[in-house]
Amino acid sequence: MTDPKALLDWVTEQREDMLADLRTYVELESPSSDKESLNATLAWLDSWLEERLGEAERIRRVDGGGRGDIEVRDYPGHGDKPVLVLCHYDTVWPLGTLAEIPFRIEGDRGTGPGIFDMKSGLVHAVWALKALSAAGLERPPIRLLLNGDEETGSLSSRPVIEEVAADAAAALVFEASADGAIKTARKGVGIFRVDATGVEAHAGLDPAKGCSAIDEIARVVLHLHGLTDPGKGTTVNVGVLDGGTRTNVTAGKAGAQLDVRVASQGEADRIDRALAALRPHDARATLTVSGAWNRPVMERSETTFGLYERARTLAAEIGLDLRECSVGGASDGNFVAALGLPVLDGFGAVGDGAHARHEHISVQGMLERTALAAAVLHALS
Ligand SMILES: [Zn+2]
Repeated sequence: MTDPKALLDWVTEQREDMLADLRTYVELESPSSDKESLNATLAWLDSWLEERLGEAERIRRVDGGGRGDIEVRDYPGHGDKPVLVLCHYDTVWPLGTLAEIPFRIEGDRGTGPGIFDMKSGLVHAVWALKALSAAGLERPPIRLLLNGDEETGSLSSRPVIEEVAADAAAALVFEASADGAIKTARKGVGIFRVDATGVEAHAGLDPAKGCSAIDEIARVVLHLHGLTDPGKGTTVNVGVLDGGTRTNVTAGKAGAQLDVRVASQGEADRIDRALAALRPHDARATLTVSGAWNRPVMERSETTFGLYERARTLAAEIGLDLRECSVGGASDGNFVAALGLPVLDGFGAVGDGAHARHEHISVQGMLERTALAAAVLHALS
């Protein structure tokens, strides 16, 4: 039997070593857009993981092209099916952010670029495994995936994630929590673009000859925003517009880029139908839709809820009230949930400010979540 309290005691004794690991990792800046930094970070992760966890049974590295590489490390354990541990090592912060937001621990508060989303999470996962070894407790086979392009939509890593998740028993996503809560449902995200073409003409001399692409796009924007349905959790946001050349020319080209979030597959289908049905107002204009659903909807499944309930029971033993929630942001958890796996997402850091200047973690939260991760991994063996 697990004693989460004993695990927490052990983890608490490792506080300084854990913070030292976290410092080194956070101080290696790893923006999604900088391959050189991503490679350097992954090289450090390789040596650190070896030091902390010993040799992996198998290591696969997939070239991410211009994006960060994906690394999959298998560690032996008890049972047939591995538990997938999902982490990403890229951050949204450009090089140089560390100088503005240095790694710092002040009381319970830890800061630094990417500390909350989600460098702390990997430190939890690693020390959770160490805690189980130290306690002589069984664990399932672990398949640790280090993703280098999560923050840019996991375009290179998605097929790898889906492949290595196929035979997994469950997935733990060490993404930042939502104010401590586990994310049992996440919205699906679509990124689309609508292009309009019109006919250019002199806006003063020959206005009737012109057909304005900007006029077309303006109508499209209003129509698309009208598809938003807060009651169903659907949002449509045209966040970028472009078009036209000069004030005295009817615009020949214009475009709108939009982010769509949905909480159910039915709503995703409704948006698809609406995009397919777009027609120009002026017959001389054309409208073209491009883009796709970037991450599928993660609807709250029975299996995920069951795993959450087990985690909640274990959390209660160390005095934690582990809540669940549904969020608008997507993660790699969406991909594995779509395969039918039970997923605990947002299992990582407690804190706040993902992608924001006030990004921070709670150090006590780090210790508690590490002990909880250990208890849950043991329960899955
Ligand atoms: Zn993240």
